[in-house]
Amino acid sequence: MRRLMDSHVHLDGMGDPEAVIGRARAAGVDAVVAVGGNLESSARALEIAELHPCYVFPAVGVHPADVLKVDLSEALAYVGENAARAVAVGEIGLDYAYGFARPPEVRERMRALYRGLLEVAEAQGLPVAVHSRSAYGDALAGLREVDVPGAVFHWYDGPVHVLRDILDAGYYVSATPAARYSRGHMEVVRETPLERLLVETDSPVHLRDLGRMSEPADVRLTVDAVAELKGVEPEEVARVSTLNAETLFRLPAP
Ligand SMILES: [Zn+2]
Repeated sequence: MRRLMDSHVHLDGMGDPEAVIGRARAAGVDAVVAVGGNLESSARALEIAELHPCYVFPAVGVHPADVLKVDLSEALAYVGENAARAVAVGEIGLDYAYGFARPPEVRERMRALYRGLLEVAEAQGLPVAVHSRSAYGDALAGLREVDVPGAVFHWYDGPVHVLRDILDAGYYVSATPAARYSRGHMEVVRETPLERLLVETDSPVHLRDLGRMSEPADVRLTVDAVAELKGVEPEEVARVSTLNAETLFRLPAP
């Protein structure tokens, strides 16, 4: 039985993934999901996962931040060709908060990329990891148009009424170390039943209070914050969130 998982990490963005994985193992993290943000980082996630079978589970995807840097059809073809090696299509989604995403044609391109990647996930029968900042309703609307086996709204900190729709639709939400200080994210954690919550770090992310970048071992910070917000023991958060991640990503028994 896995004790604890980091369900969303950008391992390709870390200087020494081997050392990072070593520290995660030492901290009792029994698996990580390594998401991809573009073709290169997805390839890197697949590569690192091959070196750590049954510990690093890869996802392939294109992050909305990279929408202007990829060729749409090439991106969709790549994700489709490599989906069989991945546990999910991710990180994909929409983000209207970027300055470059202000022009309507850029948002339309973002939606086209997201739609295309959702269709790949549907065709491959894979769940998706969704980034939805400032585009919460549209991100959910896109998902409703396809039939994927599951989805997680990663680091969700949007409005509670969209959260209710996300939960009603049967999707998961994931918590990050921001559950220690972000009011919006804290409210989401309070409102989401533990049975629908995953924990993650989204590392590497700068942890202001600790003066360093996060890594998967820091998923403990998320667990402790969720435990405090929900008034349950950290062990219970670790146990249930791990089970949720294993279910969503259909991980093999360890
Ligand atoms: Zn991410």
